[in-house]
Amino acid sequence: MSALPHKFFHTGKHSYLYLPFNNRFYQLDDCCIETLSAWLHGDTATHTTVPSDSLGTFLAGHPEIREAFTNYQEFDFHNPITTTGYRQAITDHLTTCVLCVTEQCNLRCSYCCYSEHYPQSPNFSNNTMRNEVARQAVDFLFTHSRKTSSELTLGFYGGEPMINYPLIRNTVAYAKEIFGDQILFTMTTNATLLNQEKIDFLIENNFGLTVSLDGDQQSTDRYRKYWKEPGSVFESVLTSVRMIREADPDYFQNRVIFNSVLSGPLDLDSLEETFIERLGTQAVNVGLSTISAEHTDFFEHHPLANQYDDVLNQAEDAYYKKLAEGIGSDKRQSIAFYHFLRGATIRISKRPDKPLNETIPFPTGQCIPMVFQTYIRPNGDTYICEKFEGNSVGNVFDGIDIDVVEALFQPYYQDTTKTCKQCWVQRLCSNCIVECISNGAFNPEMKRSACENERASYEHSIIRYLDTLEKNPSALDILDNWSYE
Ligand code: SF4
Ligand code: SF4
Repeated sequence: MSALPHKFFHTGKHSYLYLPFNNRFYQLDDCCIETLSAWLHGDTATHTTVPSDSLGTFLAGHPEIREAFTNYQEFDFHNPITTTGYRQAITDHLTTCVLCVTEQCNLRCSYCCYSEHYPQSPNFSNNTMRNEVARQAVDFLFTHSRKTSSELTLGFYGGEPMINYPLIRNTVAYAKEIFGDQILFTMTTNATLLNQEKIDFLIENNFGLTVSLDGDQQSTDRYRKYWKEPGSVFESVLTSVRMIREADPDYFQNRVIFNSVLSGPLDLDSLEETFIERLGTQAVNVGLSTISAEHTDFFEHHPLANQYDDVLNQAEDAYYKKLAEGIGSDKRQSIAFYHFLRGATIRISKRPDKPLNETIPFPTGQCIPMVFQTYIRPNGDTYICEKFEGNSVGNVFDGIDIDVVEALFQPYYQDTTKTCKQCWVQRLCSNCIVECISNGAFNPEMKRSACENERASYEHSIIRYLDTLEKNPSALDILDNWSYE
């Protein structure tokens, strides 16, 4: 008999069992953990005798656990690539095309993935998308989305996309001809090249705009710098953002979000003051991210950059304290509050309650490659996504080469269908192949390391989640009514 994946948690007040198969937690006040553990591991003695002790009482009170054990013996994760229907889905279910309209940028941020600190990523180049390629990319989205039921998105990305503004204008006009109002536009920008005309264009086309800004002047200008000219990137972004806000306050609140890359020394109060007081945005519109530590020598050159754990740990303590106190309908929380809420808390508390065998079972946070989105470089080559450091899987003129996608993902899926089946974090995991790619190929060792981090991180978050609910059982009711993403 195979062991049913599980994990025990102890909060200091209670013990809990978590079963990923049905995605449920069980409080274990009266149950013997040792015999329950043996039973879950398929121990023959505990399965062949009818337990009459606390284990028997516990199992009798939760018949779905026995059911889960039985169903799990027959259960296997499927491999989406070899599933009937994948080859069809890849041709007609696309939802998002992200166009890298230029690999040039007017900035040279020290932590940029195009910089010399990330040797496995492409470098800055003069590659710039031509109209013919962009139009073909729109046609590509049209052709590959015949059966897509959700909204379609055309994203503009770089480098700094605004360097190729004329192409963006042309492409938006063409996409509207093809899709009418069935298409959404998005852009990630450093906001240093905006002027009134460009801002009006973004507003008129209701662009979802992600603006990169790391916080106050010191934090932003520390690593975000102009390439060829002097001056403060922070000041330039501040000016642009104020122009957007003045041009259309509703657009600013509803369609503009910020990405703030954290670095040490970190001052969260100052970050809060910059975004909320000086820029006038809402805390929920600011996302915090960290500098990628994979395949980089960045931290060797900037040893202070990742020294912010103490500050974040204190902010996390404050977040759970606040949750446990109950915040009711008060949405005026801090940026850090939303950062932690949007992280593991939502994934844990909003986990699906269906047993695995009643879902489309695939572990990890991996998307179905080339079905949900594709990333298109200036020459028209298509990639899995903008974070992916592997090879191209086709181009907008000749289409997707499914054999190349298969060859790329097959080792990853072969690994996940085996190792994830026994992993307790399988229903919460957000790992994807991006974390396990080295020199363009799947690297199992990198996956092991990513998995250890994922399990350690969820173990920590789940204990805090359970502890919070012990203190206030309705602490997370806010998630039913809030828009927090
Ligand atoms: S603005 Fe973006 S693309 Fe340009 S250097 Fe900075 S991180 Fe890189
Ligand atoms: S942590 Fe690793 S083994 Fe576990 S589900 Fe995620 S990818 Fe699979």
